[in-house]
Amino acid sequence: MSITISLTPSTIKGSAGLGLALALCAPLAPALASPWGAITQPSSGAPQVIGATANGCIGGAEILPATGPGYVSVRRFRNRYYGHPNLLRFISDLGRAQQRRHDQLVMVGDLSQPRGGRMSSSHRSHQNGLDVDIWFTLAPSPAAANRLMDKTTDPPSMVRSDGLFVSERWGENQRLLIESAARHPAVDRIFVNAAIKRALCEETRGDRGWLRKVRPWRGHDAHFHVRLACPSDSPQCVMQDPLPPGDGCGADLAWWFSEEARKPSKGGAPTAPEPVMPAACQAVLRDF
Ligand SMILES: [Zn+2]
Repeated sequence: MSITISLTPSTIKGSAGLGLALALCAPLAPALASPWGAITQPSSGAPQVIGATANGCIGGAEILPATGPGYVSVRRFRNRYYGHPNLLRFISDLGRAQQRRHDQLVMVGDLSQPRGGRMSSSHRSHQNGLDVDIWFTLAPSPAAANRLMDKTTDPPSMVRSDGLFVSERWGENQRLLIESAARHPAVDRIFVNAAIKRALCEETRGDRGWLRKVRPWRGHDAHFHVRLACPSDSPQCVMQDPLPPGDGCGADLAWWFSEEARKPSKGGAPTAPEPVMPAACQAVLRDF
């Protein structure tokens, strides 16, 4: 990958699967107004995850219902509410866990396009039906969620403007939401702002095993990004590198608050090259 971002070797080691993680926020090349965004329906056949989250697609994707117990799917006009059944099950489980704790709803953001693939905006990943964004702000009702998310501005950040610590908006609801996501067996990893990871490291007592799945990244201060492991029904799914051992609360997290990590990169953000998609995605694209 030709992206040049200043990262220490220990951080690269600590952020296993960094290549794909970088793709979370890499800008899209203009040529990526791809055919995938124009597709309005999933392809036929059994669900099949093909390729990687930042270079792949999904056949036979399922549609996330607009609402369910404990959750509401927002910004449906983007038509990015498709995923592998494991992802829909995860969202349903997260909503039910939320419902048991609280009467407010989890706001579920983008999953994938009907057949996955490149998006014209917002994400480099979310391509193979295994990624979903979850907002930290809870909603009292589906109508309130849609009113809030109708606007172009996102819900508020949970991180102070200096980027070092969580803000007064951060609380028990947010901590339990991300813990419940990280404890789900289908979840491979979660990306979240480094200040939020730091808060989780400091607040967690007892079992800390789930903290390993929560990886620091830039942005991700108003939502967190959940990525599932490859499903057993999808042999063409490409997994990220395994996560390093430990809870990720040590030197690797500290690096995110170093001068090196916090200084703006020189010369503006680089543009990621367009990789060659897996051949099997062409059949998914052409299925009508
Ligand atoms: Zn995301």
